[in-house]
Amino acid sequence: MLSVLPKQIADESLAGYLLRLSLRNGFTSPLDWLDKPLWYAITKNTISKKQRERLSELVPSAKSTRRLNLASRHSVLFPDCHTDMPRICPFCMKGTGYLKEKWRNIGNLTCERHGCALCDSCQECGEQLIWSPLLLEGTCTNELCLCPIQSSPISSQISELFIDEICDCLLASLFIKNPYTTILPIYHHPSVCNFNSTLEQGFNLLTRNEVYEQLRERLAAPTSPFYQLSAKYRFFPLALLIKHLNSAWPISNCYASFVQTTQVSSTSNSCIESFIVTFDSASELLGITREQLIQIFPELITKKAIPRNQQLDIAAIIS
Ligand SMILES: [Zn+2]
Ligand SMILES: [Zn+2]
Repeated sequence: MLSVLPKQIADESLAGYLLRLSLRNGFTSPLDWLDKPLWYAITKNTISKKQRERLSELVPSAKSTRRLNLASRHSVLFPDCHTDMPRICPFCMKGTGYLKEKWRNIGNLTCERHGCALCDSCQECGEQLIWSPLLLEGTCTNELCLCPIQSSPISSQISELFIDEICDCLLASLFIKNPYTTILPIYHHPSVCNFNSTLEQGFNLLTRNEVYEQLRERLAAPTSPFYQLSAKYRFFPLALLIKHLNSAWPISNCYASFVQTTQVSSTSNSCIESFIVTFDSASELLGITREQLIQIFPELITKKAIPRNQQLDIAAIIS
């Protein structure tokens, strides 16, 4: 099907290589010659053995050997630190015209050659970049825009972060989006729109007292679904965030001194429809015993060990 087969460059991403092959062979998208599930698996790094075989029939030189290293997990949210959406250095694109594999890794925030921040969205129209051959020209992939992609600066404090800290910032950004988070979502890989600004939002929550105070006030406000509950449950999202941070951040101290000065009683006279936490959170952060849980969920009695991530609605216990 493909008549021109240039080789994959040593540090080129597989998705980027297939975009390049598409262009060289006169196609406008890899979907013109690859089936949808295979292409999506390539962009999401979830390619199966069968799909790998199918790909090597079509493109014998394609390298898709990147394996997930589960031993070095950095985030509680996802095992794979590679994004499913493209991130690029616009200067490299102008110079070399291919997409590097390392740009997909969120541990890399800047281009090591040019020092600029990697971009995942267009400065002009704000749209997220998608896997399109337009990337190879350094052009916005929104066909109504087509402006040259430009890198916007990130602060030096952020560009110096290491992977564990970057993952902490992404975790914190979840609580900016939804302060009433009581269960952490589990993904395969980071899937964030406008990565750099999400990172900055999370960083600000972890490091700036006024951003932390804003979140704490939202949790204390009458508009909070947990307003009727005692402080222990009202501020549980903060405890959840802090428990799962890899590194030490100013927010941990702010929260610790808040807990010391607040009466964190666990008695409450109010009613709440639902309050879902994992078994892990219930026992470790909220001090709920296995016996208390079994009273509400008799089916747990037959389990030797309750899975740490099992979700439990503890409204009946805390109301
Ligand atoms: Zn570059
Ligand atoms: Zn644009």
